Amino acid sequence: MRNFSKKILIAGLFFYLPFNAIAWGVLGHRIVGEIAESYLTSDAKKEVIRILGTESIAMASNWSDFIKSDSTFDYLSPWHYLNLKGGLTYKEVQTFLKTDTSVNAYTRMNFLARQLKNKQLTKEMKAFYLKLLIHIVGDIHQPLHVGRPDDQGGNRIMVLWFNSPSNMHQVWDSRLIDFQQLSYTEYTQAINHTTKAQRMLWQKQPISEWMWESYQIAEKIYSDVLPDEKLGYNYNFKYIQILERQLLKGGVHLAGLLNEIFKVRGKG
Ligand SMILES: [Zn+2]
Repeated sequence: MRNFSKKILIAGLFFYLPFNAIAWGVLGHRIVGEIAESYLTSDAKKEVIRILGTESIAMASNWSDFIKSDSTFDYLSPWHYLNLKGGLTYKEVQTFLKTDTSVNAYTRMNFLARQLKNKQLTKEMKAFYLKLLIHIVGDIHQPLHVGRPDDQGGNRIMVLWFNSPSNMHQVWDSRLIDFQQLSYTEYTQAINHTTKAQRMLWQKQPISEWMWESYQIAEKIYSDVLPDEKLGYNYNFKYIQILERQLLKGGVHLAGLLNEIFKVRGKG
C-alpha cells in the first residue's frame, strides 16, 4: 500500500513538473518588474499608476501566468515564448523575426506596444495589455523562452537539480533563482546596479536584439547539458551571473519600452 502510493506520488511529480515549468518563476518576474519600476520616467510612472492603480509592476508581473488556470485565456499560451530551431545565424534570426507573422512572444510584444499607444483604448483593455506586456518582456529574457521547439524550450530535457527531478526549462525559470534564497526586493537590491550609459545602450536595442541575445544564451545552455545530468553547485557557479544579467537587462529593457510607449508627445 505504502509502495503503491509512493509510486503514484512519483508519477504525479513526473507529470506535474514539465507542465508547471512555464515561465520565469514568480520571483524572476517580480525582480524584472521591480527593476523596471526604478527606471521609469515620471510620465511613464504616472500612466502606469493610472492604469494599474496601487498594484506595482512587480506584483502585476505574474498575472499572465496566473490566468492560465482559466481556460478562457488558453489562446494566450503562445504569447509567452518564441521557439527557434538550433544553429541559426544572427541574420537568419533577424530575417525570421522580420517576416514571420505567427502568434508568438515577439509579434505579440510589438502588437501590445502599438496598442498601448492608442489613446482611444479603454482603461480596462490598457490594464489587460499592460500586464501582458510586463510579463512577456520578462519571459523572453529567460533564455529558454527563445529555445528550441523539439524539446519545448528545454521542458523535455530532464535533469536532476541537486537530487530533485527537474528539467532545463525549470532550472532556468526558478530553480537557480530560488537557490539564492532572496526575496524579490532583496534580489533587486543586490543586482540593480547600472550606469546611465549602460542603460542608454541597452534601451537603444530593438526588441529583435533582446530575442537574439536570449537565443544565443539558450544555444550555450543546450551545448552544456546532458540528458539526466545532475546539476548543482557547479552549475549555479557557472551560470548565475548570466541569469542575473538577464534579469537586470529585462528590467532595464522593460523600463525603456514603457518610457517610450507612455512618452507625452510634444514634450521635450
Ligand atoms: Zn510566461
